[in-house]
Amino acid sequence: MKILVTVKRVVDYNVKIRVKTDGSGVELTNVKMSMNPFDEISVEEALRLKEAGKASEVVVVSIGPAKAEETLRTALAMGADRAILVETDDVIEPLAVAKIVKGVVEAEQPGLVIVGKQAIDDDSNQTGQMLSALLGWAQGTFASKVEIGDGKAQVTREVDGGLQTIEIKLPAVVTTDLRLNEPRYASLPNIMKAKKKPLDKKTPADFGVDTTPRLKVLKTEEPGGRKAGIKVKSVAELVDKLKNEAGLL
Ligand code: AMP
Repeated sequence: MKILVTVKRVVDYNVKIRVKTDGSGVELTNVKMSMNPFDEISVEEALRLKEAGKASEVVVVSIGPAKAEETLRTALAMGADRAILVETDDVIEPLAVAKIVKGVVEAEQPGLVIVGKQAIDDDSNQTGQMLSALLGWAQGTFASKVEIGDGKAQVTREVDGGLQTIEIKLPAVVTTDLRLNEPRYASLPNIMKAKKKPLDKKTPADFGVDTTPRLKVLKTEEPGGRKAGIKVKSVAELVDKLKNEAGLL
C-alpha cells in the first residue's frame, strides 16, 4: 500500500507572529518557515507504518511556492521516498488544496492519505474533510492512534469527552492530532541523501483546478495584550478577589 502525505510550508511555530500594518495578513518577509507541525506528525506516522510493513511507499505532496521544495526535502530527509511539488505563488484555500490533492490521489492511487488536522497559519481544519468528501472515501479525523488491518483501519480519535475508536474501510483519509506520535529528526546523512530523492513538479492547472480565492480577509488583528498580575497579602484577599472581581467563585 502506498501512503500519500500532505505537507504545508507555514511560519515556524516558534516565530512571534507580527500582523502587517495594513491588517491584510501576517508578515512573511524574512520570517522562518517550516513544515506544519501536524504534517511532521503525518510523515512520522506514514514512516512508522512503512517500517511496520503496512506500507510500501511514502509519497509527500505540497502545494505552494518554489520554496516549498525545502519542506518536501525535510520530509524526504525524515524518510519519505518521493515528493511532488504543485507549484503556485497564489494563496491556496483548503477547497482548492483538496481538489489538487484529489488529482494527485487519482494519479498515485494511494491506499491511505494522511493530512494534518490543521495548518497553523490559517487554522482552517478543512482540507482532510473536504478531500474525503471529494473522493467519496471514509475519514478518521483527529487521530491519536492508527492501526492498519486487512482492507480497513482502526482510528482512535481525540474527541471532547475523551477518545473514540472507529473502524473505517480503506482507502481512507486520516487527519493527525498532536498526540499521535513524536516526529523524528532528520540525521545529517539523511539530509544529504534527501537531496537526490525524486521530486516531481506540477502546477494546479495540471489538475484542472481553479485556485481563485473564494474568501476575502476583512482584517487580521493581534490578540489583546495580557494584563499585569498583582500580589495579594492573604488567602482571604485572594478568595475575595476571585469571588468579587474575577467572578470565578
Ligand atoms: P487546513 O485545512 O488549512 O487547516 O489544513 C489542514 C492540513 O491540510 C494541513 O495540515 C496539511 O496537511 C494540508 N494542507 C493544507 N494546505 C496545504 C498545502 N498548501 N500544501 C500541502 N498540504 C496542505
